[in-house]
Amino acid sequence: MLTNLDLMELTEFRRELHRHPELSGEEVETASKIADELKALSPTRILTGLGGHGVAAVFDSGKVGPSVLFRAELDALPIEERNDIAWLSQTHGKSHVCGHDGHMTMLLALGRVISRQPVAQGRVILMFQPAEEDGSGAKAVVADPAYQEIKADWAFAIHIEPGRPFGNVSTCAGLINCASLGLKIKLTGKTAHAADPEDGVSPAQAIAELIPALDALGQGGSLDDSFRLVTITHVKIGEPSFGVSPGEGEIFATLRTAGDEGMESLETAARTLANTAAEKFGLSVNFEVCDNFAASINDPDAYDVATTAMDAIDVAYGNAGVPMRASEDFGVFGWDAKAAMLCLGPGEDYAALHNPDYDFPDDLIPIGCAIFERIARDLLGTA
Ligand SMILES: [Zn+2]
Ligand SMILES: [Zn+2]
Repeated sequence: MLTNLDLMELTEFRRELHRHPELSGEEVETASKIADELKALSPTRILTGLGGHGVAAVFDSGKVGPSVLFRAELDALPIEERNDIAWLSQTHGKSHVCGHDGHMTMLLALGRVISRQPVAQGRVILMFQPAEEDGSGAKAVVADPAYQEIKADWAFAIHIEPGRPFGNVSTCAGLINCASLGLKIKLTGKTAHAADPEDGVSPAQAIAELIPALDALGQGGSLDDSFRLVTITHVKIGEPSFGVSPGEGEIFATLRTAGDEGMESLETAARTLANTAAEKFGLSVNFEVCDNFAASINDPDAYDVATTAMDAIDVAYGNAGVPMRASEDFGVFGWDAKAAMLCLGPGEDYAALHNPDYDFPDDLIPIGCAIFERIARDLLGTA
């Protein structure tokens, strides 16, 4: 159980993380602070440098049993914070406005209670993954050979989700977060004098045709197997000038599907449209894939474990707002473990994620910790 002193120290630590955000793949100081906190809890092992700057602590009971992994994220966002708080981000243009500072702190809280009162069998693994925001971190962790030593049978994560009542959880069995993929389409022709555009090859008409055509590939709708959404997020043609007919252009499109199965055909369809338009207008085309997130699927058994735990400690839950269109790379941990993601509400009028005035509510730290602890003890017992 967390004491008042724990809560004061954890709150102070969360605010310290908030003051010093680091972007995806650059989480050196954050990882070092987490490792220091973990050392004080005397786990069986600490692993660092997992898939980049990932850190994991293993609390091994010494008895045969399942491995249960709880996951938080180390990274912050390239967003200038606009908040009236004493622990405002000290780094210009970067901020913890996705609540990852709070998620890390909930895991450290869990570490405190597990180190004081160990589980009876198996292992508890606290996994602090890097680079969640660009979809690369979980894949890099799982691909790291060191991860084989801590591969889990069960995996759980909590993400704060504004729009839900304080302390209420939204979750469901099956799909909880969509797959998504960022497709950069670059079209190259030839610049010319604006007085003689016929001497060059402009991408303008191709891009004008591609915008509605890409849009039409995915119009959203309900989150069933047929769900396809294409969002044009960026378009550029040439440079801001009146004297030059442009020779280059680019379109960024974010593709979303309600599972990993439909993504390949949606991506192929988008590439085919771009290739056809390029050919029609005499352009060359290049593609780059970015921010590639697998879908997050809640395993029915893991969902049952989580909801049984929440029933036991009187945490209200339901399926409001889930599954979500937004993506989350936790799904990767579910590739070889029974995994479930829970969305924890900070209150209905709370600032939305990735908004400049977002700040994790510290009062959620003991609630997240209690859910994780109940799950751990239900699966592994108490020594
Ligand atoms: Zn985020
Ligand atoms: Zn997040």
